[in-house]
Amino acid sequence: MTKIINVTVHPKYVTKYRNGYPLIHQDALANEEALQAEGSILHLLDKQGEFIAKGYYGKQNKGLGWILANNREEKIDFTFFKEKIKTALNKRKSFYKDELTNAFRIFNGEGDGIGGLTIDFFAGYYLINWYSEGIYTFKDLVIRTLDESGDYKAIYEKKRFDTKGQYMDEDDFVKGERGEFPIIVKENGMNYAVYLNDGAMVGIFLDQRNVRKVIRDKYAKDKHVLNTFSYTGAFSVAAAAGGSLKTTSVDLAKRSKSKTIEQFSVNGIDYEQQDIKVMDVFDYFKYAQRKQLKFDLVILDPPSFARSKKRTFSAAKDYPKLMMDAITITEKNGVIVASTNNATFGMKKFKGFIDQAFKETQSNYKVLEEHSLPYDFQTSRDFPQGNYLKVIVVEKLQ
Ligand code: SAH
Repeated sequence: MTKIINVTVHPKYVTKYRNGYPLIHQDALANEEALQAEGSILHLLDKQGEFIAKGYYGKQNKGLGWILANNREEKIDFTFFKEKIKTALNKRKSFYKDELTNAFRIFNGEGDGIGGLTIDFFAGYYLINWYSEGIYTFKDLVIRTLDESGDYKAIYEKKRFDTKGQYMDEDDFVKGERGEFPIIVKENGMNYAVYLNDGAMVGIFLDQRNVRKVIRDKYAKDKHVLNTFSYTGAFSVAAAAGGSLKTTSVDLAKRSKSKTIEQFSVNGIDYEQQDIKVMDVFDYFKYAQRKQLKFDLVILDPPSFARSKKRTFSAAKDYPKLMMDAITITEKNGVIVASTNNATFGMKKFKGFIDQAFKETQSNYKVLEEHSLPYDFQTSRDFPQGNYLKVIVVEKLQ
């Protein structure tokens, strides 16, 4: 039996937890010292000892664990995990039926009722992300549920809970038949090479699926495209598939070049007709300005934080400046796809950054469309920060 620990919630947080807020914050607990082993079940009580909610102890950067139920009688056992995961699988039925797509998220943390756990499906393979040692103690229950939910080729996992909350580099294979990587997954008819046992990132970010689709279907035809922070060039592939004249992909990681060549190649696109640059995006902007290069479509998808030899970038602080650089090298009537995955600010603030950048460059714009997380990345109404993705597509008017 898992040990149950009673923790007292400070009065000012009681209503929040009664109303369904799912993240257990350090600040909310009056007796944090009661917490011992990660994975313990916590009962949150008010000062009078009245039950509020139950959850588990698991340390992440964000907090100390997640609420799992607001009902005292709910047992956190195999049945609990099975019900949550089955419900989540049911919500993804349309994805299983879609013949053009076989890579999607089947379980999205607190959005599907269990914070700290995500599960992705890649063409018959499962990839589980464990965000704390605490959630990892429930591994057997999760694997048993997947075993009971139908055939799969293999299960891989990423443990994202070293002392800094980062990925732990080890053999990520869990069970089944080991895959031969890359496996080629399909997304809206495009191919992507995916590596499930080669570090924290697998080659594609599934949350940008809808953005790749609109780039291909609406914005790329006959355009010169610049894809910054391009990683494996997933957006460039979408643009080329949509008939772009040429794509330029820029990323400072050395691996990005061979990875981008591979993504073009698995789609039958001649990578020699494309530009792939291994360099700092900020240096590239300077170079492009000096050469007076202009693009019809510029894609901006930086990490929330990045430190290179020369500088640090923080989306929360530096996005307006980044956007100004992009505006400068975008043609009149060109389009900018501005994206961020930083959860510390919302859509309103992000729009403010974009507005500020256009004002400071003395140009005008029109918002063409907005995106947040796609349907398979379910989010909780009670935890809006969980909807971290913000994408704005704008046209530069002059
Ligand atoms: N847009 C990508 C994902 C970007 S991940 C996609 O859709 O798949 C962030 C990438 O930014 C990483 O590949 C990292 O190497 C790169 N990066 C971070 N700082 C950079 C900088 N200053 N210049 C260029 N690339 C950078």
